[in-house]
Amino acid sequence: MENQIKNILLKYYSTENIDSIKILNGRVIITLVNVMENSEQTEKLKAEITNLGGISKVSIIFTSPKSFEGLRQNEDFWNIRGVKKIIAVASGKGGVGKSTTAVNLALALSNQNKKVALFDADIYGPSVPTMLGYEGTPPSSLDGKTFEPFVNFGLQSMSVGTLIDRNQPLIWRGAKACGALQQLLTDTNWGDIDIMVIDMPPGTGDIQITLSQKVKMDGAVIVSTPQDIALIDAVKGINMFKRVNVKILGIIENMSYYICEKCGHRADIFGHEGAKITAQQMNETFLGEIPLHFDIRENSDNGTPIVFAQPDSPYSLAYEEIARKIIAQL
Ligand code: ADP
Repeated sequence: MENQIKNILLKYYSTENIDSIKILNGRVIITLVNVMENSEQTEKLKAEITNLGGISKVSIIFTSPKSFEGLRQNEDFWNIRGVKKIIAVASGKGGVGKSTTAVNLALALSNQNKKVALFDADIYGPSVPTMLGYEGTPPSSLDGKTFEPFVNFGLQSMSVGTLIDRNQPLIWRGAKACGALQQLLTDTNWGDIDIMVIDMPPGTGDIQITLSQKVKMDGAVIVSTPQDIALIDAVKGINMFKRVNVKILGIIENMSYYICEKCGHRADIFGHEGAKITAQQMNETFLGEIPLHFDIRENSDNGTPIVFAQPDSPYSLAYEEIARKIIAQL
């Protein structure tokens, strides 16, 4: 009888999905794993099994009704000790201001009385050491095994850039890059951290997907300029996170507009509101817009991010507002 039931089940499911078949006094109890329930199919299945004869009732139990990717994620996350919440700052393409946003957002979050860490995972262009003013300084280690995070402006940080010679193009590929990122993330003595911000590598390739699966992320923030071409890539980024079950916290429009210092004229250099419209179309939160401004660029390059250097400027207030919206969602 058990084999006959199994053969019927195999018409709908694979062997891995059949966890157990129990028959007791004409009652059949089947446990299936890693499959989503489809009620129409379940009824057909029950009818076919009942037709075998001598069966009074068929019960089918579905366990773990999550996606396979979700399950895989839960099983083998990297162990990042002491960190409560992790958010990714990502972009579909490079040069849209992802790192500038990650750094200033991390500072704005720490201004909200949170203990914040920033992890620079941008293997293609790690700019956090420059933006936080420790370019060229190697990380220190007290025990020869683990790393001490850098501490600047009340923010803890670590960057993959500390392992890379800035003048050498990076030729790490998948496994090597992921291995280095894992080591830096898990071997850094973060201490007690409320929120870690990860400055992701731009794009949606294998390394980005692996990072989104292996790091237990509580959400992702997508940075885009208002331009169509950047937005197409931003949509790809949103879809990547959704595929691996990472919640989208919202979209930030960077380089949103430019106000002329002399005449006050506003110019929408890369267009305007593209990210807001895309957020609406995709049913995602629009977190806010950051204008294109000389001071934002200059302070980044000088290693004193704008949120620290000019805390009362409208730009810093915009980052603070976005930080509050993110904390509300976490
Ligand atoms: P990404 O991480 O997306 O490659 P970056 O954050 O490194 O981009 O920014 C690229 C360049 O643009 C940097 O020189 C940075 O200072 C500048 N930049 C970023 N956002 C702004 C802004 N809102 N206003 C002016 N310059 C900006």
